[in-house]
Amino acid sequence: YQMEPVRLSELVIDVLARFCADQNHKIRIIDETIHDSILGDAGRIEQVFTNLVGNAMKFSPGGGEVEIRLVGNEDHILIQILDHGMGIPESELKKLFTKFHRVDNSEQRKVGGTGLGLAISREIIGDHKGEIWIESEEGIGTTVSFTLPLEKKHAEWQTTKGKVAIIEDEPNVAM
Ligand code: ATP
Ligand code: MG
Repeated sequence: YQMEPVRLSELVIDVLARFCADQNHKIRIIDETIHDSILGDAGRIEQVFTNLVGNAMKFSPGGGEVEIRLVGNEDHILIQILDHGMGIPESELKKLFTKFHRVDNSEQRKVGGTGLGLAISREIIGDHKGEIWIESEEGIGTTVSFTLPLEKKHAEWQTTKGKVAIIEDEPNVAM
């Protein structure tokens, strides 16, 4: 991993530029963050977005809107990707992060994939001290959520090792 400060809002827009070729889906970005700088490997985080937005689009073959929401608090950014596609049966939800696991029903079988994207995404998010989970309703749609700690959180972990740290409010973009 090549860890560096990454502005998530910018990364989302970069990644989405690549998905614009799909005329079938509209993508809405809702960015409610004040600080959006995380410490991470931009290429790997991009890989997570590419898979999740790709999934949202390919599992809603009828088209429709895919929403990407960025919400922040003091410590973390929460990223959510919502679609209004075919959804996932409840019995399958727990198995999705297993390598090569794909939902096996007639509707899902028409959509291609190797079943690796979510397993890899979970590994990458875990290595960035974040969490990832999925909520879904069959026939209604799916929401994939993940969290990433803010960059200033890492600075705090560093400096509180020996002494009390004063953490500045602004992310350190000069790093
Ligand atoms: P790959 O990402 O390796 O190209 P894939 O997309 O099939 O293949 P994952 O991204 O790991 O694999 O997803 C695993 C399975 O979870 C999918 O095959 C699909 O059955 C289900 N799934 C994932 N995202 C969604 C979604 N947004 N809507 C419905 N089903 C989904
Ligand atoms: Mg995938």
